[in-house]
Amino acid sequence: MSTMQVDIVTPDRKVFSEQAEMVIARTTEGEIGVLPNHSPLAAMLQISAVRIKQDGREVIAAISGGFMEVKPESVTILAESSEFPEEIDVERAKAAKERAEKRLREKQENIDFHRAELALNRALNRLKVAKKK
Ligand code: ATP
Repeated sequence: MSTMQVDIVTPDRKVFSEQAEMVIARTTEGEIGVLPNHSPLAAMLQISAVRIKQDGREVIAAISGGFMEVKPESVTILAESSEFPEEIDVERAKAAKERAEKRLREKQENIDFHRAELALNRALNRLKVAKKK
């Protein structure tokens, strides 16, 4: 099966850099499955899980939003943060979820509301991905 180079990069580290057969990601326009030789494309990504098909297995990584660049020979994801299931600290994500829910209940200024919503989404996404361990 043909492969392409797949990279996930955050400001802190290179999370993933390997050949793979397919990438499934959630862009702001909807879910996209990318195979080798895809036409060039750039898209913003949602807080979501990226799924990478490689050698008959599926690698999953949580990403906190970001940007995806597709070329015929590669997929590059630049994410604000990214973790594999086994890297996720479930207690930390639960605490972040509770903090965000508390802020949302308190209904402060709009800007805090939006930040709390994003924090809640990140925490829920991590909790979901952590279950895929
Ligand atoms: P918190 O409030 O717990 O810091 P956050 O959503 O604000 O959560 P981010 O700003 O998205 O955190 O991430 C900061 C750094 O911490 C990143 O390197 C990210 O990978 C890491 N990180 C955040 N939450 C977790 C978690 N539950 N388990 C492992 N790493 C995490």
